[in-house]
Amino acid sequence: MTDRYDLAIAGASFAGLTAARRAAERGLRVVVLERKPEPGAQVHTTGILVKEAADLLDPPAHLVRSVPGVRLYAPSLKSIDLTSPGYHFLTTDTPGLLRWLAERAVAAGAELRLGEPLDTAESDGGTVRLPEHGIEAAFLLGADGAKSRVADLFGLGRNRRYLVGLETEYDNVGGVDGRFLHTFLDSRLAPGYIGWVAPGPHVTQVGLACKRADKPVLAAFIERIGTVFDLSEATVVERRSGLIPCGGCVSPLGRDNVLLVGDAAGMVSPMTAGGIFTALDHAAAIADAIADRQAGKAVDPLALARASYPRFTFKRWMRRGLDLGPPNWLYNLMVGTAPMRWLARLVYFHTKGLKSKKAWREAVGRGGS
Ligand SMILES: Cc1cc2nc3c(=O)[nH]c(=O)nc-3n(C[C@H](O)[C@H](O)[C@H](O)COP(=O)(O)OP(=O)(O)OC[C@H]3O[C@@H](n4cnc5c(N)ncnc54)[C@H](O)[C@@H]3O)c2cc1C
Repeated sequence: MTDRYDLAIAGASFAGLTAARRAAERGLRVVVLERKPEPGAQVHTTGILVKEAADLLDPPAHLVRSVPGVRLYAPSLKSIDLTSPGYHFLTTDTPGLLRWLAERAVAAGAELRLGEPLDTAESDGGTVRLPEHGIEAAFLLGADGAKSRVADLFGLGRNRRYLVGLETEYDNVGGVDGRFLHTFLDSRLAPGYIGWVAPGPHVTQVGLACKRADKPVLAAFIERIGTVFDLSEATVVERRSGLIPCGGCVSPLGRDNVLLVGDAAGMVSPMTAGGIFTALDHAAAIADAIADRQAGKAVDPLALARASYPRFTFKRWMRRGLDLGPPNWLYNLMVGTAPMRWLARLVYFHTKGLKSKKAWREAVGRGGS
């Protein structure tokens, strides 16, 4: 028997669940296929929400912790503190957050099929058929992550450049100042990216990521930060790891009635490696466009994707610089200087607080007058 839907989605994570909820709220018949047994299983991400994502989601207080600033460490472990008025991050109980997103999508009317990977699909340009699942749909959205099966099946663009990230979650890490995300520059331990210690709502998240050609050695990083934090009583709660696309959006983004969104589309900042906000934001917009199209409006969701997905022009240039692996002595020299403060604030807080001359002066440490 075949069921007919307006929208079929592969992947029940940030992008897929957001699109499912929005489309269902708009009155579409939506089905989500997820290969894992439940949305919060085998999470690969640190799950930190930038303020823009926090504002979009407004998650329940028990699933998050507000962290106002960033403490940036040089390889020498000299550090600077960065904040921006009105800005904050949310660290999250990520499995809990994904379960909450799934509940909201289902409450809106989306059908969630867990433990059902999408393996085969075909489209005649008007209808997508997923015969193994007894599904026909007007649209298929590939929200199935960095190694998208939907992109494979329909000859769409593939992510080709990655960072690889590794994280351990601990109970009982001592000496962590909860006002900050602690981020570590070190081209030897984290070539091409950073290490981090994040005070989560219930645990402390310790991780690092680097270019895919290198292998992150978490044990060496943990030894390194042992002089800053006390891990002598720490116990491991969970381990996470995954690939982070860092080459910008893929091309093509879709074909006819099949589209990519989130990591599948490569919409992760090549500089910060954050992809949750863009996944949420664009998934909702694409779902709206599909709903408009199904309502008979002259809207082309694929054209919208092409026009609105981020280009990351500046951040892709910055990524090239990071890939060259600035030597540690340069980081040691730079951290604490006005240009580095300015750059770090631009990266962590976007342009927030930098638009006025006064704020710029504060950012580079020259007072506010
Ligand atoms: C170590 C690490 C740390 C990170 N930290 C952060 C951070 O702190 N903040 C931030 O903003 N970003 C972070 N990112 C990036 C962020 O996790 C991703 O950008 C985000 O998860 C993208 O969401 P998504 O829904 O597009 O894809 P994903 O979260 O990757 O979800 C894809 C979903 O599709 C499912 N799936 C895959 N194949 C199939 C199939 N064939 N059929 C059905 N289902 C399938 C998967 O099981 C999964 O549930 C991090 C990434 C990594 C690897």
